[in-house]
Amino acid sequence: MTDDVAERKMQFLFALRTRGVTDSRVLEAMERIDRGDFVRGIFAARAYEDMPLPIACGQTISQPSVVGLMTQALAPSPRDKVLEVGTGSGYQAAILSQLARRVYTVDRHRRLVHEARALFDRLGLTNITAFTADGSHGFPEQAPFDRIIVTAAAEDPPGPLLAQMKIGGIMVLPVGQSDTVQSLIKVTRTETGYDYEEIRPVRFVPLLEGLGEE
Ligand code: SAH
Repeated sequence: MTDDVAERKMQFLFALRTRGVTDSRVLEAMERIDRGDFVRGIFAARAYEDMPLPIACGQTISQPSVVGLMTQALAPSPRDKVLEVGTGSGYQAAILSQLARRVYTVDRHRRLVHEARALFDRLGLTNITAFTADGSHGFPEQAPFDRIIVTAAAEDPPGPLLAQMKIGGIMVLPVGQSDTVQSLIKVTRTETGYDYEEIRPVRFVPLLEGLGEE
């Protein structure tokens, strides 16, 4: 690693802290997983900046501080089985793989899933299973989940995902119209229903129906 990259990584972690990512386990995971592995081409030079960046299929890798805040709100524990809807680059799933027992991640774009899988193999992240599907239906074969994270915005939390949460489980997701301001919310399933907590305004690509073209 050149001094320049080391310096940029230090600043990357510092920026996460100043933007509210304070959980030491989350920070350690974000130090171990190199965002530079998940960004390609001309944008690779900006991997350590706190901004979303374009990836294949017209999608984006989320802003690192938002990844950190979502992971922190999700509070996965080492025994947890997690579902992520919206694999994208695989970056969020890779961070979760450091904090949970097992991560299932789903994207509607086959190409993104193939690329993410290859990356997980190369990085030795063996507790992640990536697959292509419309994730708004969840993953009934592996339900219920301790934790669910959705990294694309729906108008409301999808019913199947609510149904696939364990009691005591947590789901973190952006909700709202795709082209206006969305809210990041945390849903906790209780014995009798669901508690909702608003975290902050965010902006994500929309959760779309069906499979993508590539
Ligand atoms: N978590 C990603 C960023 C995801 S961008 C990362 O760390 O890089 C949002 C992703 O959600 C896109 O890849 C998009 O294809 C996917 N997506 C949108 N609607 C979906 C759906 N219904 N099911 C599965 N994936 C979906």
